[in-house]
Order: sequence, then structure tokens, then C-alpha cells
Amino acid sequence: MSALHPGLPGLNGMETKHRNQTLGPLLRNFPWGNCGHSVLDNFTLFAANAIVVLVMAMVFFIAGRARNEVYWDSWGLANVVIGFALLTFMFERFLPDVLTTLLPNSLLVLGFSLRWQAARQFEKRSAPRYVMLLPAVVFVAFCAVPPIYSSYASVYSTVNIVLTVLAAGCTFEFWRNRSDRKLSRTGMIIAYGVLTGMFAARTLQGLLATNDMARHIPDDAILTIHLSVALFHVTASGAFALALAYERDATELRRLASRDGLTGLLNRSAFETRAMAFIRANPELPFALAIFDLDHFKRINDLHGHAAGDRTLVACAQAFDETFDDNAIVARWGGEEFVALLSGLSSAEAAHAVETLRAKISRLAVPADNTVIHPSLSAGICHSDCGSRDLEHLLSHADSGLYAAKKSGRNRVKQIVNAAA
Ligand code: GH3
Ligand code: MG
Ligand code: MG
Repeated sequence: MSALHPGLPGLNGMETKHRNQTLGPLLRNFPWGNCGHSVLDNFTLFAANAIVVLVMAMVFFIAGRARNEVYWDSWGLANVVIGFALLTFMFERFLPDVLTTLLPNSLLVLGFSLRWQAARQFEKRSAPRYVMLLPAVVFVAFCAVPPIYSSYASVYSTVNIVLTVLAAGCTFEFWRNRSDRKLSRTGMIIAYGVLTGMFAARTLQGLLATNDMARHIPDDAILTIHLSVALFHVTASGAFALALAYERDATELRRLASRDGLTGLLNRSAFETRAMAFIRANPELPFALAIFDLDHFKRINDLHGHAAGDRTLVACAQAFDETFDDNAIVARWGGEEFVALLSGLSSAEAAHAVETLRAKISRLAVPADNTVIHPSLSAGICHSDCGSRDLEHLLSHADSGLYAAKKSGRNRVKQIVNAAA
């Protein structure tokens, strides 16, 4: 029976023999591991890690059922493999010697390769399955070489080098997209960063081992610290993975709710919300409101088909994007109508910007079957200098300008100069 955990099989009966091989006296009285009076023993810590990863695996599989993102299955599978690795470490005394050396370690490598795959899939990067299998295959092949196999310190250092690289790879994948400023991403980076540090420390431990280690994972205070860090990692990486996925979904849903599906411009309600917020927040800043309507658009649809009409709308939306700067709030008002709030411009500057857009659209050539479409638009514009800062009021005057532009021949801009009326 193991001294590690009375009543339960221990970590291969390694007990005191292999403890503190490297850091010796420094850690001998460490109050937190299997060093005499243990508060947390390594067997219990292994069990806690295994339970958390396997429960998280179930959670990932369940999360994946409701969606079609492939990374949930990769994450779940990675956790199952890591869970089995932990179980084989816990019960390695029952395994034949050859498996004790290679099975739990190669399962760990495979599990973290799958984690890396899941991280890449989560960040929408390619992650071919055969590449992900490579670290485990290389590890087993390398460790099967007699001089490596016969020295557990070499196997131990090798596995920890591979795990350091894989954990660093996961950290890097999450770190690369940090510009999205998601708080749970920071949690993922910390969870994987801490684990990377721990694997690196274990690599060092293996490389510094003066006398060769026994053929089992060394049951020492470093293992206790490692398993405690691992427990933080499996809990944090599982919880933050879910949080990050849901945070990202929420952002995407908010974006979809505020955007027009065809052109990618803001939709009408998002425009109203942002325009009112702008007017409230900038009581002094001049601005103009412009309404645009494509000319004879029905004819474009009738002559060239609805799909060509859609492509024309997209090309026009792109022209809006290219013409107006980031201070403008531009939206698809509905159908073939657009609206823009141009801030910080004088009345003449705003009229000039709208005229530039009109000219740009009149030069567009949208490909259609055997021909090209030359769209044009009419616009009405009203500036806040003209006596009102009320959104509805200014919009209705801009609309009158649009009506006048249509009446006087289309493909032109009409500015309403007295909005107080
Ligand atoms: P006017 O110069 O007076 O504005 O004439 P018009 O033909 O542009 O105006 P009308 O209101 O008669 O027609 C607008 C057309 O826009 C009718 C509608 O089928 C088309 N339309 C609205 N939304 C879409 C869309 O998303 N895609 C396509 N292809 N057509 C659309
Ligand atoms: Mg219209
Ligand atoms: Mg029209």
C-alpha cells in the first residue's frame, strides 16, 4: 500500500525514494506536499486534475452539440486524452514497465497537441489533424531509441520540452488575437502561460537531475507544485475557454444586430441610436445629415436581375466607405436608400463630401451579364447650422432635399439651407 495515500494505490510506490532528488534539502520541509506531513498529496491532486479535465470535456462536448464549431470536439477530445494520461500516471504501478515509461507521457503529448489544434481552430486558423499527431509520434519514436529509453531523466526532459513547446503554442495562439481586447482571452493567456512556465521548470528539473531518475514520474514537492498549478490551469483554461467563446458570440451577435446583412453598413436602428448618442454627446459640434436614394433602381433590377441589383448596392456601400471618414455614421436606411451623419464639417464641406460621393458613384461600373451597370444616386442634405439639431427634424429636411433632387432630374445633390422652417 502506498505511503502517498493510505488505502489507495500510490504513484507507483515511489514514496520517499525519489523525493526531492534535485532540490533536496530546500524542499524537504516544504509544508505543502508529500514531504512528511502533507496537506495535499499528489495522488489526490492527480485525481482532482483528472476529474476537472473530464468534467470540462463533457461540458465542451455539450457546448459543441448546440453549434457547428469544430473546436469544441477538439477541446473535448483533448481533455479526454489528458484525463486518461492523468489516470495512467495515478495507476502506473499496475502497468508493465514499457508502458509506464511511454504511455502516460505520450497521452499527455497527444492531449496537448489536440489542445493546440483546438486553439488554432478557435482562432480560425488551419489545423490539419496529421500535423497535430506529429508531436506524439515523434516523441514515441525518439524515446524508443535505447539510450533515451534507458534513462528516465532523458524521457522526462524530452516530454517536458515537447509539452513546453505545445503549451507555448497554445499561449501564442490566444495571444495573437489580443487586439479583440476580450477579458477572458487574458484569462486563457495566463492559464496557458503559467502552464508553459511550469513545463519549462520541469524540463530544467530533468536536465539538472544529477543521478538518473527512477522509471517513474518523481514524486516530490515540485510535482505537488506542478499539480497545483495544473489544477489552476485545467480549471481556468476550461472556464475561460467557455467565457471567451460566449464573449465572442455576444460581440458577433451585437454586430449582426446592428449591421445590414447585404452591405455590411449599419442598419437603420443602429444609425438612429448612434446618431442620437452623437448629438447628445457633442452639443456644440456642427454636423450634416444626408439621405441618398439610387436612381431608377427598379429598372436596374428589371434589366439585369436582382443579383446584379444586390452587387450594385454593395458597390455603392463600398463607395460610401471609401468617401467618408471614420467620423461619419453611415447606414443603409432601407431598400436602395442610405443615410449619413457627417460630423465636424461646415455646411460647405459637408455638401462637398456628398457631391464627391455622388460623382464617385456615377463613375461606378458594376459587371452584369455581358454588360456593366452605371448607377447614379440623388441626395438631400441639411446642416445643423440651419437652425436645428433635432435628428428627426433634420432628416425630414434632408428628405425634402432628396425629393427636390429627384424632381429636378436625379443624379444630383440638393441642400436645404433653412431647417428652422
Ligand atoms: P427612383 O429614381 O425614383 O428612386 O426610382 P427607383 O426605381 O429607384 O425607386 P423605386 O422605389 O420605384 O424602386 C426601388 C427598388 O429597389 C424596388 C426594389 O425592388 C429595389 N430594392 C430594394 N431593396 C433591394 C435589395 O436589397 N436588392 C435589390 N436587388 N433590389 C432592392
Ligand atoms: Mg427609394
Ligand atoms: Mg431609388
